Amino acid sequence: MKPRLIVATRNAHKVEEIRAILSDFEVCDLSVLVDPPEVEETGTTFLANATLKAEAISAITDGLVLSDDSGLEVDVLDGEPGVYSSRYAGEAGNDALNNEKLMRELGERDDRSARFRCVMVLAQDGKILTHSAGAVEGRILKEGAGGGGFGYDPLFAPDGYDRSFAELGEEIKNSLSHRARALEGISKWLAENSLDL
Ligand code: IMP
Repeated sequence: MKPRLIVATRNAHKVEEIRAILSDFEVCDLSVLVDPPEVEETGTTFLANATLKAEAISAITDGLVLSDDSGLEVDVLDGEPGVYSSRYAGEAGNDALNNEKLMRELGERDDRSARFRCVMVLAQDGKILTHSAGAVEGRILKEGAGGGGFGYDPLFAPDGYDRSFAELGEEIKNSLSHRARALEGISKWLAENSLDL
C-alpha cells in the first residue's frame, strides 16, 4: 500500500496536480480529516503561509502533510499580485475577478513578463521536515485563452510557448510548472530520508 500524504489545501486543482506528479503516495485532500481548521494566511511570504498551513494541519493528524502556497508575480506591477494572488480582487479564490483585475492593471503594456512561484512545506506529526520552492518564468497574454487549469492559467504563457497554461493542458503544465518544480525538491528529500510511514 502506498503511504498517505495529505495536501493542506481546499484547492482541488492543486491536489489534482500534486496527485498526478507524486505517484508513489496516496495523495488525499482535507476531506479525509474531521473538521480541519481554516488557516488564516497572515504571512507576507509564500514560505510563511505554507508553513502556517502545514503546521496547522499536521497538528491534527499523523502521517505526512504537504502544504502549497503559490502565486503570480508580474514585473511591471512590482511583483503583484504575489502572495495575495488568491484575493487580488478582494474575495479569496474568485479567479474570474482576479483575472479581470490583472487585465485592467496591465492594460496594453508591452512588458508583460511574469512568473508563478510555489513554496511547499512537508510536515509530519506537527513538525516541519523540509521545504522546497519552484518557479516558472513566462508572460501575461493580452487575452485569456483555454479552459484547463485554474486561477491565472488562461492568462499565463510559460517561456517557450505561445499558448497559455490553460490551453497547453495538464501534461505540459505538470512537466514545467512552479508546483512541479517545488515537488522535485520534496521528492528528492523523501527519497533521501527514510521515514516511518
Ligand atoms: P494560495 O491558495 O494562497 O496559495 O493562492 C494561490 C493563488 O495563486 C490561486 O488562487 C491562484 O490565483 C494563483 N495560482 C497559484 N498557482 C497557480 C497555478 O498553477 N495556476 C494559476 N494560478 C495559480
